[in-house]
Amino acid sequence: MFLKNKHSRIQEVYFSEIEGKDVQLFVKREDELHHFISGNKYRKLKYNLEEAKRLKHHTLLTFGGAFSNHIAAAAAAGFEFGFNVIGVIRGDELANKLDEVLATNPTLKFAAEHKMKFEFVSRSDYRTKTTSAFIQKLKDKFGDFYLVPEGGTNNLAVKGCEEILIEEDLKYDVVCSSIGTGGTISGLINSLAPHQKVIGFPALKGDFLQNEIKKYVITTKNWSLDTNYSFGGYGKVSEELINFINKFKAEIKIPLDPIYTGKMLFGIVDLIKKDYFAKGTKILAIHTGGLQGIDGMNTILKKKNLPQID
Ligand SMILES: *Cc1c(COP(=O)(O)O)cnc(C)c1O
Repeated sequence: MFLKNKHSRIQEVYFSEIEGKDVQLFVKREDELHHFISGNKYRKLKYNLEEAKRLKHHTLLTFGGAFSNHIAAAAAAGFEFGFNVIGVIRGDELANKLDEVLATNPTLKFAAEHKMKFEFVSRSDYRTKTTSAFIQKLKDKFGDFYLVPEGGTNNLAVKGCEEILIEEDLKYDVVCSSIGTGGTISGLINSLAPHQKVIGFPALKGDFLQNEIKKYVITTKNWSLDTNYSFGGYGKVSEELINFINKFKAEIKIPLDPIYTGKMLFGIVDLIKKDYFAKGTKILAIHTGGLQGIDGMNTILKKKNLPQID
């Protein structure tokens, strides 16, 4: 067994912006599961690593953008457990200036330090990454590998995410999660008790998500998506969001990432302010990790002369 089944702690949040509201907000600190294989990526890789070993693979291959939490986690997991890892990275322009990229992009620097081998591909090729022709080309080049999809989502990833909620979490009425590809929320939905429901906060504009999630879940009841807090799309942030993340960390001492958990908590706090939840509701927000992305976002914010994440 590579990644043990662990339980993360839960903290109650007393935040000035929702003072006096008759609901309780808690954060489940999945970000603390592992130093480098953070949050939901730990859950999603767990059974995939076991499967790769069972099939006697020595090499993992996966996909991601240049600041991807999944790329960082896959590199760290391969390094720790003795797999070679090939990262197929979106953006072939990066290959021509790799030294500069490694000096300025903390995610790829981290992945390189953990021996990930990069294959940079153009944005148009990247869009074809699930076709058998594209995958065959990769096999011709690198030999056989265990393929972990973009963002790590597949059936085994969902199975891992079914271990996020445990019996003690039955006391919460509403579970909230950020969404990228939909694997994490699918695991949460499958492990929910009948009196509970899940609200998902997509970090990107994507009407496809509803259907993606339906591929993995056992019920279409007890869950919904709130698409009002994507802040214009994947990786997009506003000054208001950055200020919120900084205020939340200053008061609560919980760091949030700008791509996923920051947007989700902004959404939850906004809904509480608007009295969306019934009186007495106990809300459990899953901190899915992603903190490695803060440094990369700060370099981008600095270039744009925007405030940075503390
Ligand atoms: C990858 C990631 C997500 C999205 O998870 P999906 O299973 O792809 O929906 C959410 N939060 C953080 C911090 C992540 O790194």
